[in-house]
Amino acid sequence: DERRILQYQITLYGDDERLLMARDITRLHRLEQMRQDFVANVSHELRTPLTVLSGYLETYGDLSDQLPPRLGRGILQMQSQTRRMENLVNDLLLLSRLEIDQGGKDHQSLSLAPLLDSICQDARALSAQQHKTPQRIELDLEGDLRLMGSEQELRSAISNLVFNAVRYAPAGSHIILRCGVLPTGEGYVEVQDNGHGIDPIHIPRLTERFYRVDKGRSTATGGTGLGLAIVKHVLLRHDARLVIDSLPEQGARFRCVFPATRLHPT
Ligand code: ADP
Repeated sequence: DERRILQYQITLYGDDERLLMARDITRLHRLEQMRQDFVANVSHELRTPLTVLSGYLETYGDLSDQLPPRLGRGILQMQSQTRRMENLVNDLLLLSRLEIDQGGKDHQSLSLAPLLDSICQDARALSAQQHKTPQRIELDLEGDLRLMGSEQELRSAISNLVFNAVRYAPAGSHIILRCGVLPTGEGYVEVQDNGHGIDPIHIPRLTERFYRVDKGRSTATGGTGLGLAIVKHVLLRHDARLVIDSLPEQGARFRCVFPATRLHPT
């Protein structure tokens, strides 16, 4: 009398023949749930010791000019590695939450133009911090786009795309954020850069957790390897999809496409 989960598949053969297959995926489903709970619990448990560690390191960092130079340099290294671990744990927790709960509770009618404007400002600050010659980051709005969604989740997804462009496109390059309505009636938000781009063979796997085209470069730029997985999950919760277009050395374009049913007249 236990609840079972069945997956059905119908295959058509010619005009009048059909094959119906049912597969019992209860065990698979349970294992997947255990994996999700495990990741959520581990990330949660790691947060407290990391907070304590970074608190101490901040105090010692403030004293670094009074310490022997080797020790001072060591503390700065420990600070930056602890920050990396904190980012990773925060992204893992966010991803677990997006996987585990159904979402939709905080969906409201949102105006995207002010949201994109504020993300643009954060990206300019990051670009100034990361590059000697900051990139040109522009907002190219075809009017506003209003849709039903979670402001917090969409901010985190779009920020991930814009921050990736800042991190992977070289100093002085050009990044454009756009939103509008496609001829199909669907809404879109896209981030385009004219950086090194991505070889098309990697594109289908980019939203997998920890999939990286160039591991050394991604780690050096401070990524957690979870950014695009987060984007994919946020979009799934908005019935939307991610379309990636890129060619090596010709930049990349990441486009989020929202169904017309999610849009509101502006
Ligand atoms: P990471 O933390 O490694 O950036 P992401 O999931 O955000 O993880 O991205 C996955 C990979 O996709 C990156 O490691 C990088 O190789 C590639 N990538 C993402 N955005 C861009 C971009 N704008 N230009 C070139 N490569 C990109």
